[in-house]
Amino acid sequence: MDRRDFLYLVSCGVLGLAVTARAGAARRHWAWINARRDADPADLRRRFAELRAAGIARVLVGGGSAAAYALAREAGLEVHAWMWTLCRGDLMDVLPDCYAVSREGKSTRDHPPYVPYYRFLCPSRPEVAAHLEQQVTELAANDDLAGVHLDYVRYPDVILPRGLWDKYGLVQDRELPEFDFCYCDTCRAAFAAETGSDVAALADPTASAAWRQFRWERVTTLVNRLAAAVHDGDKQITAAVFPTPTLARRLVRQDWPRWNLDAVLPMVYHGFYEQDVAWIESAVREGVVALAGARPLHAGLYLPHLPTDADLAQAVAGALRAGAESVALFGGVRDLTGFEAG
Ligand SMILES: [Zn+2]
Repeated sequence: MDRRDFLYLVSCGVLGLAVTARAGAARRHWAWINARRDADPADLRRRFAELRAAGIARVLVGGGSAAAYALAREAGLEVHAWMWTLCRGDLMDVLPDCYAVSREGKSTRDHPPYVPYYRFLCPSRPEVAAHLEQQVTELAANDDLAGVHLDYVRYPDVILPRGLWDKYGLVQDRELPEFDFCYCDTCRAAFAAETGSDVAALADPTASAAWRQFRWERVTTLVNRLAAAVHDGDKQITAAVFPTPTLARRLVRQDWPRWNLDAVLPMVYHGFYEQDVAWIESAVREGVVALAGARPLHAGLYLPHLPTDADLAQAVAGALRAGAESVALFGGVRDLTGFEAG
């Protein structure tokens, strides 16, 4: 969060209002924050202190820096390691043959869709699950961390949020083959073993409910395996997910109400869906209803699309009214480049 946003939050006191909205129940709000490994410790200390002063109790710290986790904890914040899960351009040398393959037969390793960093691993590959399990196990052993936070735990967007179509010059009124994943040999063999049919032989794979369901299950199985590993380390596991169960399943194949998480943080970023602020309340309500009390929901809010005091206040109030336990703020943080399609 940059200085302008911080002063803005403090000046309008919106988070404080939210705290008092439900008598006696202190809301423990979250913020996503990127901390580069080479970040200046004094700068990080100042940023964490500002967040705490702005009413943030929990931070999702990106960048993988153990030093940053420690500084956040020293600032009195509850710290969660924010990790990119399946969107992993950093593993091209480690797991070169494990990248998701499109319906056109192209690997995201060599042909990332939309943007150069969109290199997604295939959730079906045992090597991928093993690698990620080891990563979260190591994080769960870090005493400065309260939990592990999964981001990009999904397929590439088979359909982009409506507000991004113009940016990429696309009309995605159906599932186009270059954005439809994963048709790798492992996935095809597993689907054939389950259903007896080769997905590549289907006249229209996008019309197959079994194929859709199969891919929801691949992500759910992976998440639940990672959840078991994190829970073995007595830590929490959470995830940033698409805004509603319906949109999450349709756009990126996340069936998140079925994930064994300790909490779910839907990114209810209304602007990317060409919705107004009032939509946040209905979107949150859909998620809360789908979860049916199994675990709390914290509403992710995108600050750049909430430019005024009234906007932010309306967003927070709507989310809480719909049953969110707290809000999680994103945007205005540094290193925003590349997150627009995330
Ligand atoms: Zn695959």
